[in-house]
Amino acid sequence: MYLVMMGVQGAGKGTQAAILKERLGIPHITSGGLFRAMKDQDTPLARQVRDIMARGELVPDDITIEIVKERLQQPDARRGFILDGFPRTCPQAEALDAIMAEMGEALTAVLFLNLSDQEAVDRISGRLQCELNEKHIYHVKYNPPRTPGVCDVDGGRLFQREDDRPEAVRKRIAEFHEKTRPLLDYYDKQGLLVEIDADRPIEQVTEAILAALEQKRA
Ligand code: AMP
Repeated sequence: MYLVMMGVQGAGKGTQAAILKERLGIPHITSGGLFRAMKDQDTPLARQVRDIMARGELVPDDITIEIVKERLQQPDARRGFILDGFPRTCPQAEALDAIMAEMGEALTAVLFLNLSDQEAVDRISGRLQCELNEKHIYHVKYNPPRTPGVCDVDGGRLFQREDDRPEAVRKRIAEFHEKTRPLLDYYDKQGLLVEIDADRPIEQVTEAILAALEQKRA
């Protein structure tokens, strides 16, 4: 299955993708994670990406496409993937179509986790991430760790991401409406779009996604 997760920051893409990864046995690939993995590199490109991310802006398409393409060509992504955070612009969506065509495959579904901006801000401002594994994500209210400030899985310290601060959050939400929302139409026209109400508890959203995928398969 080749899945794309879409939705405003805070909609639960990362949380759901981590669950789906286990249920479906395919890798969870995040463009944000690929960029954050560059954080220790001391190259002009890594410095440029770091500055852009800290401001909550989008990394230029050519850089993003190159980095994601390289990741999608790894052997573990041949059998399927859950792509989270990419594509975010029309040129990125077109590039993904070209990558899939080169692989001789096609996307299975695009899952749009729909959440209001206000709820998104609420969620992001309470989001915590593990310092040892960025895919271990919590929320002070909706998904608290067993011990405050400590990751349930590996004991890592929990912290707030720099781009989860209010100013960067507002910028990222604006970027979503301006550049990413048009993609919903793009995928709807291809019959790939599945809209999921994300303003529900985590388990209910997962069940809705799995039911929708089941229907797609039928
Ligand atoms: P995320 O973890 O998906 O919220 O991504 C964090 C940051 O990485 C974003 O605010 C952007 O600066 C950058 N980024 C991630 N994915 C993309 C993308 N597809 N296109 C451009 N920039 C991206």
